[in-house]
Amino acid sequence: MKREDLRNCKRIVVKVGTSSITYPTGKVNLGKMECLIRELSDLHSAGRELILVSSGAVGAGVGKLNCPPPSSLPEKQALAAIGQGILMHMYEKFFSEYSKSVAQVLLTRDCFSDPVRYLNSRNTLFSLLNFGVIPIINENDTVAVDELKFGDNDTLSAMAACNAEADLLLILSDIDGLCDSDPRKNETARLIPEVSEITAEMTENSKAKGGALSSGGMFTKLSAARMTMANGIPLVIASSDEPGVLRRAAGGEAVGTLFLPFREGGYASRRRWIAAGSAAAGTVTVDDGAAEALLRRGKSLLPSGVVKIEGVFKAGDVVGVKNASGAEIARGITNYSHEDAVKILGRRTSEIEEILGRRDYEELIHRNNMAVLM
Ligand code: GLU
Repeated sequence: MKREDLRNCKRIVVKVGTSSITYPTGKVNLGKMECLIRELSDLHSAGRELILVSSGAVGAGVGKLNCPPPSSLPEKQALAAIGQGILMHMYEKFFSEYSKSVAQVLLTRDCFSDPVRYLNSRNTLFSLLNFGVIPIINENDTVAVDELKFGDNDTLSAMAACNAEADLLLILSDIDGLCDSDPRKNETARLIPEVSEITAEMTENSKAKGGALSSGGMFTKLSAARMTMANGIPLVIASSDEPGVLRRAAGGEAVGTLFLPFREGGYASRRRWIAAGSAAAGTVTVDDGAAEALLRRGKSLLPSGVVKIEGVFKAGDVVGVKNASGAEIARGITNYSHEDAVKILGRRTSEIEEILGRRDYEELIHRNNMAVLM
């Protein structure tokens, strides 16, 4: 894939961060919001399908009440409840000026991790797109407690892009893209225009947090990139301050950083769900030989390559597969519960029956039920 190919992307998910639509005080930045909506409307009129993922609810709540940033979860949830309405009011108002219809879609983590809810949210998004409407997604912050949380809208936008089978994800932020060092600390930091592999060094450099009112930063953007890259979706991270940024990025011009997908076309929907929707109930750590077999030779995961089992899971649950250095390299549906997996780890397939009294499957995770993430 090349930059110019982005011109042909029909369905685009655009994520805007809090800093792209509010002032540091949380007050809505009308100028920035108007520019953004004008550009989005123009892309829509040109025939693109758009899904907007917008942060800024907590920020807008802070701006409305003129209060300091929230210090507790209930305060954050209350401020999101106040701000979400303000955001939607502004989107409705500005998009109406260009005769565009919008819809509010508030999601929690289980809308993607539960297969039935995953399908429902996907069907709703497809229906909205068929109506010619622009869905505006945010996390349902008001009810999302820990186990229901995405935590940040970068992850949410990547999951939404996979769920809605988008052709492109654009993340607009207050940074120009991925740099070779932290541009906030280092004036000579240089923008990396194209990334085809996320290195350990990039991840290490990305650990600084975003602004006071937002949850993200480069770290969560790189996690989002891993997800889109594994699912065949290109991602551009660019600055919302760049004039004409949406038109230019969607037009295939060199702006921000383009993260290239590992494979063209991505996974069919079941594996896509495994890779980008599911929540892992546990993890399975594998030795170097098994990691190589999964990543390079397209093999299933056999018990013999497993060195450690963590978490509580049953057969049919999704588990993460980690390599010896702890990086998640794949995700898949396990054929054995954690109790059984512990008993057969490191053992040959021919020994399974003797140990468990049955041999339902030869593999711990069959290739067909696995999504490789690197
Ligand atoms: N959902 C949060 C909000 O709308 C923002 C999360 C994020 O910035 O990543 O305020």
